[in-house]
Amino acid sequence: VIEIRNLHKSYGTLEVLKGVSIRAEKGHVVSLIGSSGSGKSTLLRCCNLLEDSQQGEVIFAGEAVKWQGSGLARRPADRAQVTRFRTNLSMVFQQFNLWSHMTVLQNVMEAPVTVLGRKPAEVEPLARALLAKVGIGDKAENWPAQLSGGQQQRAAIARALCMQPEALLFDEPTSALDPELQQEVVKVIKDLAGEHRTMILVTHDMRLAAEVSDHVVFLHQGRIEEEGPPATLFGAPKSERLQQFLSASA
Ligand code: ATP
Ligand code: MG
Repeated sequence: VIEIRNLHKSYGTLEVLKGVSIRAEKGHVVSLIGSSGSGKSTLLRCCNLLEDSQQGEVIFAGEAVKWQGSGLARRPADRAQVTRFRTNLSMVFQQFNLWSHMTVLQNVMEAPVTVLGRKPAEVEPLARALLAKVGIGDKAENWPAQLSGGQQQRAAIARALCMQPEALLFDEPTSALDPELQQEVVKVIKDLAGEHRTMILVTHDMRLAAEVSDHVVFLHQGRIEEEGPPATLFGAPKSERLQQFLSASA
């Protein structure tokens, strides 16, 4: 379970998150939707402590982040705890961020070997199995530049899975892709949701959110404007802002 309680986050004087609480139960998919600048990426980055926050709690598997300092000087107090959170919450970005000087297989094996200290010989079979799972088993020895965008993003998902994380965080994993390439990534995400992996998914793809989510959160200017099961949120939105947002993104 990942839980965020009453999180406040500012960049300088700009308050981006104004008291947001979300909760992803084990095996559930929570989607974050909302207009550009509403704070979705910031919230996701706060989940795995890529960002500090000024107030509120970040809790993962019953463990609350320990902070030191206050206000803009507030930082996580325990580096080992930060590493524990990050290795258990693997993130997939819009821009796949593969290492261009490593083969696809090396990319997937990198973090388990360097961060977790696992033996390459042990990690390799898992890495190859994950590449096969996302449908690019034949690309293991290729360089990232030799792959299509959809294949690169699937490699990035295999890389995130190779850490054997408790949960996956996706930040608009399909937004940088042409429509026909989006579908192959959507399929992988649907498969993962079908396996009951814990996920938080930021997406502009309302069909994907409707299909895979247990719970959908609509952020507006750093606050939760409306949330609920996808059938209600998409089928009978109450807030006028959400209604406008949905008709604009249809
Ligand atoms: P998009 O849909 O465009 O990705 P988003 O909902 O993910 O938008 P965020 O990236 O979380 O939005 O940004 C929320 C606000 O915080 C924006 O006003 C943005 O300009 C600001 N912001 C984000 N990152 C920083 C930063 N590192 N420094 C200063 N301001 C930032
Ligand atoms: Mg974003």
